[in-house]
Amino acid sequence: MPADNNPQAIVKEIEHLFDSRGSSWYGGESISQLEHALQSAMFAEQEDASPEMIVAALLHDVGHLLHDLPEDIADEGIDDHHEVLGRRWLAKRFPQQVSTPVEMHVAAKRYLCAKDPAYLESLSPASKLSLELQKGIMSEEETRQFEASPDFERAIQLRRWDDRAKIVGLETPKLDHFMTYIAQACGAESN
Ligand code: FE
Repeated sequence: MPADNNPQAIVKEIEHLFDSRGSSWYGGESISQLEHALQSAMFAEQEDASPEMIVAALLHDVGHLLHDLPEDIADEGIDDHHEVLGRRWLAKRFPQQVSTPVEMHVAAKRYLCAKDPAYLESLSPASKLSLELQKGIMSEEETRQFEASPDFERAIQLRRWDDRAKIVGLETPKLDHFMTYIAQACGAESN
């Protein structure tokens, strides 16, 4: 179990991150980081996902809130590796059921592009641009390795919520609502 998993302290950290950084734009889309996070978490909750997966959905892009690079960094041809930053931050606070799907959510896009041409077409222009910076579409060998991961299904599920969570003006619960899942996710057993 991670060392720093005091739920109240984690809730405060998350509120602070979204208060200070959540109004920034979600790279190249017309919604904010906070709106994108809340929509992702709402879709997870609507599908009766586990507390760990709801927290993963809420915090899948926490890496974007942890660095000081410009919001339009992808336009400059630079990948911020937010999934790695996010995994490191989450792994100190939650079991791997939260941090691993977050680390894999970028690879999940590369996987789905390899498996489904319609998925590739459906990506927003910003997401297509970042795909190029994230090593592009997976090779067949890479897709086989990805499918072998015990977290494969969770990573794909998270990616589906992430891709849908770009709806301008969609009503969602507020951040407080999802904080009830933090303690539950902290207490989950690692496997
Ligand atoms: Fe996202």
